[in-house]
Amino acid sequence: MGKIQMKTPIVEMDGDEMTRVIWEQIKTRLLEPFIDLKTVYFDLGLPNREATGDQVTEDAANAVKEYGVGVKCATITPNAQRMEEYGLSQMWKSPNGTIRAILDGTVFRTPIMIDGISPAVRNWESPITIARHAYGDIYKAVEYRVETPGKAELVFTGDDGTENRQTIFQFEGPGVIQGQHNRDASIRSFARACFQYAVDRKQDLWFSTKDTISKVYDRDFKDIFEDVYLTEYQDKFEQLGLKYFYTLIDDAVARVIRSKGGFIWACKNYDGDVMSDMVSTAFGSLAMMTSVLVSPDGKYEYEAAHGTVTKHYYRYQQGETPSTNPVATLFAWTGALRKRGELDGIQELQDFADRLEKCTLDVIQEGTMTKDLAGLWEGKTAARTVSTDEFLAAILQRMN
Ligand code: NAP
Ligand code: MG
Repeated sequence: MGKIQMKTPIVEMDGDEMTRVIWEQIKTRLLEPFIDLKTVYFDLGLPNREATGDQVTEDAANAVKEYGVGVKCATITPNAQRMEEYGLSQMWKSPNGTIRAILDGTVFRTPIMIDGISPAVRNWESPITIARHAYGDIYKAVEYRVETPGKAELVFTGDDGTENRQTIFQFEGPGVIQGQHNRDASIRSFARACFQYAVDRKQDLWFSTKDTISKVYDRDFKDIFEDVYLTEYQDKFEQLGLKYFYTLIDDAVARVIRSKGGFIWACKNYDGDVMSDMVSTAFGSLAMMTSVLVSPDGKYEYEAAHGTVTKHYYRYQQGETPSTNPVATLFAWTGALRKRGELDGIQELQDFADRLEKCTLDVIQEGTMTKDLAGLWEGKTAARTVSTDEFLAAILQRMN
Protein backbone atom coordinates (compact mmCIF):
# COMPACT_ATOMS: atom_id res chain seq x y z
CA MET A 1 0.00 0.00 0.00
CA GLY A 2 1.39 3.41 -0.98
CA LYS A 3 1.83 6.21 1.51
CA ILE A 4 -0.81 8.94 1.81
CA GLN A 5 0.21 11.97 -0.23
CA MET A 6 -0.14 15.53 1.07
CA LYS A 7 -0.57 18.73 -0.96
CA THR A 8 0.24 21.63 1.36
CA PRO A 9 2.86 21.23 4.09
CA ILE A 10 2.06 21.55 7.79
CA VAL A 11 4.12 24.06 9.77
CA GLU A 12 6.06 21.93 12.26
CA MET A 13 7.38 23.60 15.41
CA ASP A 14 9.74 21.39 17.40
CA GLY A 15 10.25 21.99 21.12
CA ASP A 16 12.10 20.98 24.25
CA GLU A 17 12.93 18.21 26.72
CA MET A 18 10.68 15.15 27.12
CA THR A 19 8.15 16.35 24.57
CA ARG A 20 10.92 16.86 22.00
CA VAL A 21 11.93 13.21 22.44
CA ILE A 22 8.29 12.09 22.10
CA TRP A 23 7.81 14.36 19.06
CA GLU A 24 10.53 12.59 17.10
CA GLN A 25 9.17 9.17 18.13
CA ILE A 26 5.63 9.99 17.02
CA LYS A 27 6.85 11.23 13.65
CA THR A 28 9.15 8.38 12.79
CA ARG A 29 7.09 5.53 14.23
CA LEU A 30 3.44 6.50 13.77
CA LEU A 31 3.31 9.06 10.95
CA GLU A 32 6.12 8.56 8.43
CA PRO A 33 5.40 4.86 7.79
CA PHE A 34 1.90 5.83 6.61
CA ILE A 35 2.18 9.36 5.21
CA ASP A 36 4.55 11.06 2.82
CA LEU A 37 4.81 13.73 5.48
CA LYS A 38 5.30 17.27 4.18
CA THR A 39 6.26 19.87 6.78
CA VAL A 40 7.96 23.23 6.96
CA TYR A 41 10.21 22.72 9.98
CA PHE A 42 11.05 25.30 12.65
CA ASP A 43 13.18 24.37 15.64
CA LEU A 44 11.65 26.23 18.60
CA GLY A 45 13.86 24.33 21.05
CA LEU A 46 15.43 26.81 23.49
CA PRO A 47 19.01 26.47 22.10
CA ASN A 48 17.80 27.50 18.64
CA ARG A 49 15.69 30.35 20.00
CA GLU A 50 18.87 31.59 21.68
CA ALA A 51 20.90 31.11 18.49
CA THR A 52 18.39 33.03 16.35
CA GLY A 53 17.59 35.74 18.89
CA ASP A 54 14.06 34.25 19.00
CA GLN A 55 13.56 35.14 15.32
CA VAL A 56 12.64 31.49 14.69
CA THR A 57 9.48 31.86 16.81
CA GLU A 58 8.26 34.84 14.81
CA ASP A 59 9.13 33.11 11.53
CA ALA A 60 7.17 30.03 12.62
CA ALA A 61 4.09 32.07 13.56
CA ASN A 62 4.22 33.88 10.22
CA ALA A 63 4.53 30.53 8.45
CA VAL A 64 1.32 29.38 10.18
CA LYS A 65 -0.31 32.53 8.79
CA GLU A 66 0.99 31.65 5.34
CA TYR A 67 0.24 27.90 5.24
CA GLY A 68 -2.83 27.86 7.48
CA VAL A 69 -2.09 24.83 9.69
CA GLY A 70 0.67 24.32 12.26
CA VAL A 71 1.54 21.83 14.96
CA LYS A 72 3.68 22.78 17.95
CA CYS A 73 5.66 20.78 20.48
CA ALA A 74 5.78 22.06 24.07
CA THR A 75 8.60 24.54 24.68
CA ILE A 76 10.42 25.94 27.70
CA THR A 77 9.44 29.44 28.78
CA PRO A 78 12.71 30.60 30.31
CA ASN A 79 12.99 31.81 33.90
CA ALA A 80 16.07 32.70 35.95
CA GLN A 81 17.02 29.05 36.46
CA ARG A 82 16.75 28.31 32.71
CA MET A 83 18.96 31.34 31.93
CA GLU A 84 21.72 29.58 33.80
CA GLU A 85 20.91 26.04 32.63
CA TYR A 86 20.99 27.05 28.94
CA GLY A 87 23.44 29.97 29.17
CA LEU A 88 20.90 32.37 27.69
CA SER A 89 21.69 35.93 26.68
CA GLN A 90 18.11 37.00 27.43
CA MET A 91 15.03 35.67 29.19
CA TRP A 92 13.19 34.99 25.90
CA LYS A 93 9.45 35.48 25.93
CA SER A 94 7.00 32.60 26.01
CA PRO A 95 6.82 31.19 22.45
CA ASN A 96 3.11 30.53 22.92
CA GLY A 97 2.63 34.18 23.89
CA THR A 98 4.53 35.34 20.79
CA ILE A 99 2.58 33.02 18.49
CA ARG A 100 -0.77 34.01 20.04
CA ALA A 101 0.07 37.70 19.70
CA ILE A 102 0.87 37.23 15.98
CA LEU A 103 -2.15 35.03 15.22
CA ASP A 104 -4.51 36.91 17.64
CA GLY A 105 -6.70 33.93 18.23
CA THR A 106 -8.82 31.89 20.55
CA VAL A 107 -7.53 28.71 22.18
CA PHE A 108 -9.99 25.80 22.37
CA ARG A 109 -9.14 23.08 24.88
CA THR A 110 -11.15 19.87 25.06
CA PRO A 111 -10.56 16.89 27.37
CA ILE A 112 -10.23 13.47 25.77
CA MET A 113 -12.63 11.15 27.63
CA ILE A 114 -11.95 7.46 28.07
CA ASP A 115 -14.07 4.57 29.33
CA GLY A 116 -12.44 3.47 32.57
CA ILE A 117 -11.36 6.93 33.69
CA SER A 118 -14.24 8.89 35.14
CA PRO A 119 -14.16 12.64 35.74
CA ALA A 120 -13.71 13.81 39.32
CA VAL A 121 -17.08 15.54 38.91
CA ARG A 122 -19.54 12.63 38.90
CA ASN A 123 -22.25 14.22 36.75
CA TRP A 124 -19.94 15.20 33.84
CA GLU A 125 -20.92 12.93 30.95
CA SER A 126 -19.39 14.80 27.99
CA PRO A 127 -16.29 16.96 27.56
CA ILE A 128 -16.40 20.66 28.37
CA THR A 129 -14.42 22.76 25.89
CA ILE A 130 -12.79 25.89 27.26
CA ALA A 131 -12.46 28.69 24.70
CA ARG A 132 -9.77 31.06 25.94
CA HIS A 133 -9.30 34.54 24.54
CA ALA A 134 -5.59 34.69 23.73
CA TYR A 135 -5.05 38.44 23.68
CA GLY A 136 -4.59 41.19 26.25
CA ASP A 137 -5.75 41.75 29.86
CA ILE A 138 -3.09 40.89 32.46
CA TYR A 139 -0.96 39.19 29.76
CA LYS A 140 -0.32 42.61 28.21
CA ALA A 141 -0.52 44.62 31.42
CA VAL A 142 1.80 47.36 32.64
CA GLU A 143 2.56 47.06 36.34
CA TYR A 144 4.16 49.34 38.81
CA ARG A 145 5.24 49.05 42.42
CA VAL A 146 4.52 52.12 44.49
CA GLU A 147 7.18 52.80 47.14
CA THR A 148 6.24 56.24 48.45
CA PRO A 149 2.98 58.06 49.25
CA GLY A 150 1.41 59.63 46.17
CA LYS A 151 -1.47 59.66 43.74
CA ALA A 152 -1.93 56.99 41.07
CA GLU A 153 -3.89 58.16 38.04
CA LEU A 154 -5.25 56.59 34.86
CA VAL A 155 -4.60 58.95 31.95
CA PHE A 156 -5.68 58.58 28.33
CA THR A 157 -4.31 61.07 25.82
CA GLY A 158 -6.17 61.10 22.52
CA ASP A 159 -4.27 61.63 19.26
CA ASP A 160 -6.23 64.89 19.02
CA GLY A 161 -4.74 66.01 22.33
CA THR A 162 -7.82 65.48 24.50
CA GLU A 163 -7.12 64.05 27.91
CA ASN A 164 -9.12 61.82 30.24
CA ARG A 165 -7.74 61.55 33.77
CA GLN A 166 -9.06 59.54 36.74
CA THR A 167 -7.62 58.88 40.15
CA ILE A 168 -6.95 55.21 40.79
CA PHE A 169 -5.83 55.59 44.38
CA GLN A 170 -4.24 58.03 46.77
CA PHE A 171 -1.41 56.01 48.35
CA GLU A 172 -0.24 56.73 51.86
CA GLY A 173 2.24 53.85 51.86
CA PRO A 174 3.71 51.25 49.50
CA GLY A 175 1.48 49.21 47.17
CA VAL A 176 0.99 48.08 43.57
CA ILE A 177 -0.86 49.32 40.48
CA GLN A 178 -1.56 47.78 37.09
CA GLY A 179 -2.90 48.97 33.73
CA GLN A 180 -4.68 46.54 31.40
CA HIS A 181 -6.21 46.88 27.98
CA ASN A 182 -8.10 45.02 25.32
CA ARG A 183 -9.27 45.95 21.83
CA ASP A 184 -12.84 45.75 20.53
CA ALA A 185 -11.50 44.19 17.31
CA SER A 186 -9.82 41.37 19.23
CA ILE A 187 -12.86 40.78 21.47
CA ARG A 188 -15.10 40.68 18.40
CA SER A 189 -12.93 38.11 16.67
CA PHE A 190 -12.84 36.09 19.92
CA ALA A 191 -16.65 36.18 19.99
CA ARG A 192 -16.89 35.14 16.32
CA ALA A 193 -14.43 32.29 16.81
CA CYS A 194 -16.51 31.00 19.76
CA PHE A 195 -19.88 31.24 18.00
CA GLN A 196 -18.45 29.62 14.86
CA TYR A 197 -16.84 26.81 16.87
CA ALA A 198 -20.18 26.22 18.64
CA VAL A 199 -21.93 25.96 15.26
CA ASP A 200 -19.23 23.59 13.90
CA ARG A 201 -19.44 21.40 17.01
CA LYS A 202 -23.22 21.79 17.39
CA GLN A 203 -22.81 22.63 21.06
CA ASP A 204 -24.20 25.41 23.28
CA LEU A 205 -21.96 28.37 24.04
CA TRP A 206 -21.57 29.80 27.54
CA PHE A 207 -19.75 33.03 28.22
CA SER A 208 -18.89 34.54 31.58
CA THR A 209 -17.23 37.70 32.89
CA LYS A 210 -17.52 39.83 36.04
CA ASP A 211 -19.45 42.75 34.56
CA THR A 212 -21.22 43.56 37.82
CA ILE A 213 -17.86 44.67 39.27
CA SER A 214 -16.04 45.65 36.08
CA LYS A 215 -18.82 47.84 34.73
CA VAL A 216 -16.88 49.16 31.73
CA TYR A 217 -14.13 46.65 30.94
CA ASP A 218 -15.99 43.36 31.33
CA ARG A 219 -19.21 45.02 30.18
CA ASP A 220 -17.48 45.66 26.83
CA PHE A 221 -16.89 41.91 26.42
CA LYS A 222 -20.49 41.15 27.33
CA ASP A 223 -21.91 43.74 24.89
CA ILE A 224 -19.72 42.66 21.98
CA PHE A 225 -20.67 38.98 22.44
CA GLU A 226 -24.34 39.97 22.58
CA ASP A 227 -23.98 42.05 19.42
CA VAL A 228 -22.16 39.32 17.46
CA TYR A 229 -24.81 36.83 18.57
CA LEU A 230 -27.79 38.98 17.57
CA THR A 231 -26.37 40.24 14.28
CA GLU A 232 -24.53 37.15 13.00
CA TYR A 233 -25.41 33.94 14.82
CA GLN A 234 -28.90 33.96 16.34
CA ASP A 235 -30.54 32.41 13.26
CA LYS A 236 -27.91 29.67 12.92
CA PHE A 237 -28.17 28.87 16.63
CA GLU A 238 -31.98 28.65 16.47
CA GLN A 239 -31.88 26.43 13.38
CA LEU A 240 -29.50 24.04 15.14
CA GLY A 241 -31.38 24.22 18.45
CA LEU A 242 -28.33 25.69 20.20
CA LYS A 243 -28.28 28.11 23.11
CA TYR A 244 -26.09 31.13 23.81
CA PHE A 245 -25.94 31.68 27.54
CA TYR A 246 -24.26 34.59 29.35
CA THR A 247 -23.73 34.58 33.10
CA LEU A 248 -21.36 35.92 35.77
CA ILE A 249 -18.13 33.94 36.17
CA ASP A 250 -18.91 32.85 39.74
CA ASP A 251 -22.37 31.66 38.71
CA ALA A 252 -20.80 29.91 35.70
CA VAL A 253 -18.36 28.00 37.91
CA ALA A 254 -21.22 26.68 40.04
CA ARG A 255 -23.31 25.72 36.99
CA VAL A 256 -20.35 24.04 35.25
CA ILE A 257 -19.83 21.78 38.25
CA ARG A 258 -23.55 20.87 38.35
CA SER A 259 -23.78 20.35 34.56
CA LYS A 260 -23.57 17.18 32.46
CA GLY A 261 -20.90 18.81 30.23
CA GLY A 262 -21.05 18.85 26.45
CA PHE A 263 -20.80 22.61 25.84
CA ILE A 264 -18.26 25.32 25.08
CA TRP A 265 -17.32 27.73 27.86
CA ALA A 266 -15.82 30.98 26.55
CA CYS A 267 -13.49 32.66 29.05
CA LYS A 268 -11.44 35.82 29.15
CA ASN A 269 -7.68 35.27 28.92
CA TYR A 270 -6.92 34.77 32.63
CA ASP A 271 -10.13 32.88 33.41
CA GLY A 272 -9.36 30.54 30.52
CA ASP A 273 -5.79 29.98 31.70
CA VAL A 274 -6.99 28.93 35.16
CA MET A 275 -10.23 27.16 34.24
CA SER A 276 -8.67 25.01 31.52
CA ASP A 277 -6.24 23.49 34.03
CA MET A 278 -9.09 22.97 36.50
CA VAL A 279 -11.35 21.36 33.90
CA SER A 280 -8.63 19.16 32.38
CA THR A 281 -7.47 17.92 35.77
CA ALA A 282 -11.05 17.19 36.83
CA PHE A 283 -11.57 15.24 33.60
CA GLY A 284 -8.41 13.21 34.28
CA SER A 285 -5.09 14.62 33.12
CA LEU A 286 -3.43 17.52 31.28
CA ALA A 287 -1.93 14.83 29.07
CA MET A 288 -5.47 13.94 27.90
CA MET A 289 -6.45 17.30 26.48
CA THR A 290 -6.48 18.67 22.95
CA SER A 291 -5.62 22.30 22.32
CA VAL A 292 -6.00 24.37 19.16
CA LEU A 293 -5.47 28.06 18.52
CA VAL A 294 -7.88 29.40 15.89
CA SER A 295 -7.14 32.81 14.41
CA PRO A 296 -9.88 35.18 13.17
CA ASP A 297 -8.80 34.58 9.56
CA GLY A 298 -9.09 30.82 9.94
CA LYS A 299 -5.52 29.66 10.69
CA TYR A 300 -5.04 26.70 13.02
CA GLU A 301 -2.23 25.85 15.43
CA TYR A 302 -2.43 22.53 17.30
CA GLU A 303 -0.45 21.76 20.45
CA ALA A 304 -0.51 19.82 23.70
CA ALA A 305 -1.88 21.68 26.72
CA HIS A 306 0.93 20.49 29.03
CA GLY A 307 4.56 21.59 29.24
CA THR A 308 7.85 19.87 28.41
CA VAL A 309 7.55 17.45 31.38
CA THR A 310 10.93 18.51 32.76
CA LYS A 311 10.98 16.14 35.75
CA HIS A 312 10.58 13.11 33.49
CA TYR A 313 13.26 14.46 31.14
CA TYR A 314 15.86 14.87 33.90
CA ARG A 315 15.20 11.29 35.00
CA TYR A 316 15.36 10.11 31.37
CA GLN A 317 18.78 11.77 31.02
CA GLN A 318 19.93 9.74 34.03
CA GLY A 319 18.92 6.55 32.26
CA GLU A 320 15.38 5.99 33.56
CA THR A 321 12.84 4.67 31.04
CA PRO A 322 10.08 7.28 30.85
CA SER A 323 6.38 6.54 31.13
CA THR A 324 5.33 9.96 29.86
CA ASN A 325 1.92 10.18 28.24
CA PRO A 326 2.24 11.07 24.52
CA VAL A 327 -1.52 11.35 23.82
CA ALA A 328 -1.84 15.15 23.83
CA THR A 329 1.19 15.52 21.55
CA LEU A 330 -0.09 12.77 19.27
CA PHE A 331 -3.53 14.40 19.10
CA ALA A 332 -1.88 17.72 18.19
CA TRP A 333 -0.49 15.93 15.12
CA THR A 334 -3.76 14.19 14.25
CA GLY A 335 -5.64 17.49 14.68
CA ALA A 336 -3.27 19.22 12.26
CA LEU A 337 -3.33 16.35 9.74
CA ARG A 338 -7.14 16.18 9.82
CA LYS A 339 -7.47 19.94 9.31
CA ARG A 340 -4.91 19.85 6.46
CA GLY A 341 -6.91 17.01 4.91
CA GLU A 342 -10.14 19.02 5.22
CA LEU A 343 -8.64 22.16 3.71
CA ASP A 344 -6.94 20.29 0.84
CA GLY A 345 -9.80 17.86 0.26
CA ILE A 346 -7.72 14.76 1.10
CA GLN A 347 -10.16 12.29 2.66
CA GLU A 348 -7.42 9.68 3.26
CA LEU A 349 -5.55 12.08 5.51
CA GLN A 350 -8.68 12.77 7.56
CA ASP A 351 -9.42 9.06 7.83
CA PHE A 352 -5.83 8.37 8.91
CA ALA A 353 -6.13 10.95 11.72
CA ASP A 354 -9.41 9.38 12.89
CA ARG A 355 -7.92 5.89 12.80
CA LEU A 356 -4.75 6.85 14.69
CA GLU A 357 -6.82 8.54 17.42
CA LYS A 358 -9.14 5.56 17.67
CA CYS A 359 -6.26 3.07 17.90
CA THR A 360 -4.67 5.18 20.65
CA LEU A 361 -7.85 5.32 22.72
CA ASP A 362 -8.54 1.61 22.11
CA VAL A 363 -5.11 0.71 23.48
CA ILE A 364 -5.88 2.64 26.67
CA GLN A 365 -9.43 1.38 26.94
CA GLU A 366 -8.14 -2.18 26.78
CA GLY A 367 -5.93 -1.45 29.77
CA THR A 368 -2.49 -0.50 28.39
CA MET A 369 -1.44 2.99 29.51
CA THR A 370 1.25 5.28 30.86
CA LYS A 371 1.77 5.77 34.58
CA ASP A 372 -0.23 9.00 34.90
CA LEU A 373 -3.40 7.25 33.68
CA ALA A 374 -2.83 4.00 35.54
CA GLY A 375 -3.32 5.92 38.78
CA LEU A 376 -6.78 7.02 37.63
CA TRP A 377 -7.83 3.74 36.03
CA GLU A 378 -11.14 2.19 37.14
CA GLY A 379 -11.56 -0.30 34.29
CA LYS A 380 -12.65 -3.91 34.83
CA THR A 381 -9.24 -5.43 34.11
CA ALA A 382 -6.14 -4.22 35.92
CA ALA A 383 -4.12 -1.54 34.13
CA ARG A 384 -0.91 -2.59 32.39
CA THR A 385 1.47 0.31 33.07
CA VAL A 386 3.94 0.72 30.22
CA SER A 387 6.74 3.03 29.14
CA THR A 388 6.18 5.68 26.47
CA ASP A 389 8.11 3.43 24.09
CA GLU A 390 5.90 0.39 24.75
CA PHE A 391 2.76 2.51 24.54
CA LEU A 392 3.71 3.82 21.08
CA ALA A 393 4.58 0.26 20.04
CA ALA A 394 1.12 -0.91 21.13
CA ILE A 395 -0.52 1.83 19.04
CA LEU A 396 1.61 0.92 16.01
CA GLN A 397 0.72 -2.74 16.38
CA ARG A 398 -2.94 -1.82 16.37
CA MET A 399 -2.51 0.43 13.34
CA ASN A 400 -1.00 -2.48 11.43
P1 NAP B 1 4.50 20.19 32.75
O1 NAP B 1 5.60 19.99 31.79
O2 NAP B 1 3.13 20.23 32.19
O3 NAP B 1 4.60 19.07 33.84
C1 NAP B 1 4.09 19.16 35.16
C2 NAP B 1 3.80 17.76 35.71
O4 NAP B 1 2.59 17.29 35.15
C3 NAP B 1 4.84 16.72 35.33
O5 NAP B 1 5.93 16.73 36.21
C4 NAP B 1 4.01 15.46 35.39
O6 NAP B 1 3.75 15.07 36.73
C5 NAP B 1 2.68 15.92 34.83
N1 NAP B 1 2.62 15.80 33.36
C6 NAP B 1 2.51 16.80 32.44
N2 NAP B 1 2.43 16.30 31.21
C7 NAP B 1 2.51 14.97 31.32
C8 NAP B 1 2.52 13.89 30.39
N3 NAP B 1 2.43 14.12 29.08
N4 NAP B 1 2.60 12.62 30.86
C9 NAP B 1 2.69 12.38 32.18
N5 NAP B 1 2.70 13.36 33.12
C10 NAP B 1 2.61 14.63 32.69
O7 NAP B 1 4.69 21.58 33.55
P2 NAP B 1 5.96 22.21 34.28
O8 NAP B 1 6.81 21.14 34.86
O9 NAP B 1 5.42 23.25 35.13
O10 NAP B 1 6.77 22.92 33.12
C11 NAP B 1 7.87 22.34 32.43
C12 NAP B 1 8.30 23.27 31.33
O11 NAP B 1 7.28 23.36 30.36
C13 NAP B 1 8.59 24.68 31.78
O12 NAP B 1 9.86 25.09 31.28
C14 NAP B 1 7.48 25.52 31.19
O13 NAP B 1 7.94 26.78 30.79
C15 NAP B 1 7.05 24.72 30.00
N6 NAP B 1 5.62 24.84 29.62
C16 NAP B 1 5.35 24.88 28.30
C17 NAP B 1 4.04 24.91 27.85
C18 NAP B 1 3.79 24.93 26.37
O14 NAP B 1 4.71 24.97 25.58
N7 NAP B 1 2.56 24.88 25.94
C19 NAP B 1 3.00 24.87 28.76
C20 NAP B 1 3.30 24.80 30.12
C21 NAP B 1 4.62 24.77 30.54
P3 NAP B 1 4.64 14.00 37.56
O15 NAP B 1 6.02 14.60 37.63
O16 NAP B 1 3.93 13.94 38.86
O17 NAP B 1 4.62 12.71 36.80
MG1 MG C 1 -1.53 28.13 32.29
